[in-house]
Parts: sequence; C-alpha cells; structure tokens
Amino acid sequence: MNTIIIILLAVLGATLGSFFNVLIYRLPRKESIVFPASHCANCNKPIPFYLNIPIISYLALGGKCKYCKAPIHWHHLLVEVITPLILILVFLQYGLLNILFLKYALLCMFMIPIFFIDAFHQIIPHTLSIPLIPLGLIFALIPGNDVGIFNALISSGIIFAFLVFLAYAYRLARKVDGIGGGDIWLLTAIAAFFGLLSMPYMILISAVLGIIYFLIFVRRKEQGFAFGTFIAFTTVLWSVLGAESALNLIPWL
Ligand SMILES: [Zn+2]
Repeated sequence: MNTIIIILLAVLGATLGSFFNVLIYRLPRKESIVFPASHCANCNKPIPFYLNIPIISYLALGGKCKYCKAPIHWHHLLVEVITPLILILVFLQYGLLNILFLKYALLCMFMIPIFFIDAFHQIIPHTLSIPLIPLGLIFALIPGNDVGIFNALISSGIIFAFLVFLAYAYRLARKVDGIGGGDIWLLTAIAAFFGLLSMPYMILISAVLGIIYFLIFVRRKEQGFAFGTFIAFTTVLWSVLGAESALNLIPWL
C-alpha cells in the first residue's frame, strides 16, 4: 500500500515541480502563469507536451532546448526532483490519513517556489506568502491539528507585530530597509502553521543558516540577502522532521 502511495506522490510531486518551475520563472516577471503555454525562454518556441515530461525530458534533452540548444538551468531538474522527495518525506512522517500530512505538505509546496524566487530575485511574491496566513488559521480550526486556533492567532499576531517593530526600528537606526515586507508576511504565515513555541527556533535556525551561507559564499557584501530562502528551507526541514519531534531535538526545551 505504502509503495503505491509513494509512487503516486512521486508522479504528483514531479508534475507539481514542473508547475513550480513555471511559477519561479513567471511570478517575478509578473507574467501570466497560464498563458502562453510552456515555451523556451531563449528562442520562444513552444514546448510540446511530450518534451515537457518532468525530469525525463530534462535528462533526455541533456538540459538543452531541443531547437536552439540553449542550456536550461539545472534548478529546473532540481525542483522536479526535490518536490516529490519532500512530499514523500512528509507522508512518511505523518501518514496519509492525517490532517497534518495535508497541512505540512501544502506548506512545503508553497516553500519551494518561495525558496527559488527569493534566491534568484530577492523577492517573495505576496501571491505566495499572504494566502498562507488564512490557510494556516483554517488548519488550526480543524480537529486533530497540532496547533490550536488560539495558538495560531497569538503566534502570528506576535510575530507580525515583532517584525513590523523591528523593521521600523532598523529603518530609523540605519536609514535603510533591513527586513522586507515579504519576510514579514512569510514568517507571520509560518507562525500560524507552527505555533508560538516553534517560532524562536525557526527564526534562529534560518538566521544562522543564512549567516553561514553569507560568510562562505557571498563575496560582494552589499549584495541583497535572501532571508526568505533560508526561512523556506528551515520550514521544509521543520515540517519533514515534524514540528513536535523537531522541538524534542532541542535538549534545553
Ligand atoms: Zn530554445
């Protein structure tokens, strides 16, 4: 039974990954996500469905456009591979007939385009972050959820107020924006999903990962810092581990 579910999730995930690649390309460019149909970003030739099969087409074409041979960025393949992988890991953590599977699978699916769009463009589209806030609150109303509605409301309220305060304080002190509006919406939404107890750790782990990455890889220090990328990564990690078991991993709690 599990094998069948895993195969189905793999197919669903690869297909979703293919759709996320469209979002990752088009949302920051403010293009429609429906029209026109898939086309090569270089020669604009439409991609027929038989060349648009997730993972397989990329490998068969050697990561190049069939017509103009322009290279297709490797992140396309990566997205189509990690999306099914994350779905399967969330399934293995919670099981299919658990509301938490739906909740965390959905949350992770939003994190994939956010991760790449913020990494490439230093923006988090509001169309991906803001709808997550009511979604998190709706899940909090469903029986069997790990975070109750009061926790979700208080958690997202406190995180929102704290980040808005921090953003204003930073701007007053340094005369530049330190925290983007996108980060504020994203963390407010995640707070509704994870509850208050997880949030200090979520923010701390995201910040530590971000700082480590910045120190190792970023040569030009004035370059924009894509905090949302690290928030998205930590959110997937936290969901896959299970918020409760993730908290248990922290010995001093
Ligand atoms: Zn082409």
